[in-house]
Amino acid sequence: MASGFGWDRADAYLFDIDGTLVRSRDPVHYFAFQHALRKVFGLEATIDGVPVQGNTDIGILRAVLHQQGLADSEIDAGLPQMVEQMCAEVRRNSSQMCPELCPSVHEVLSLLHSQGKLLGAASGNLETIGWLKLERAGIRDMFAFGSFSHPLEFRADIFRQGVATAKQRLGPSAEVYIVGDTPADIQAAKAVGVPIIAVATGIFEFDHLLALQPDACFRRATDMMENF
Ligand SMILES: [Mg+2]
Repeated sequence: MASGFGWDRADAYLFDIDGTLVRSRDPVHYFAFQHALRKVFGLEATIDGVPVQGNTDIGILRAVLHQQGLADSEIDAGLPQMVEQMCAEVRRNSSQMCPELCPSVHEVLSLLHSQGKLLGAASGNLETIGWLKLERAGIRDMFAFGSFSHPLEFRADIFRQGVATAKQRLGPSAEVYIVGDTPADIQAAKAVGVPIIAVATGIFEFDHLLALQPDACFRRATDMMENF
């Protein structure tokens, strides 16, 4: 941890969703990509060859369609429809979603909430899908706002928008920290110039994240509670 950095000192926190707040054990989100690719482009394609951790839903769709030989102009033309199809499909199957809270996430959110901190979600998920995961995990009400994929495509832009929203609500001098589980979160937060707290509850190991020099690094949210 950077010396003198107190993870609990911010006025607002932006939380990534997958691997940070929840882990999804169901394939609802995964199959929604296939559904949209079939409906809009008539393609029988999966997202299996594309890195999804730290990616955004739009970034994943674009990568699959590039592999299928489509040009960006064709992809961009189909994006609004694909987004609509994905969100509708996830909504249709939302009763099958079973996101599991990462250890101590509820406690950390409750603690921050009780301290009057502003909490936002900042995720590469499409908005409808991100909120549904949090709703199904029982933590939707903890979040005052969110910043998601589409029309934004890059994680740094999603974070930048989340920070801007927090500052609109709290004032320009508000301190905003980001919490995430991937190297992409660390890189994007650094690009935006905002402190990043890494938690190793996704697929990346603690040492891997620590080597990328986040402002704070924890094995799980449980360790955040102990350092509050
Ligand atoms: Mg994540």
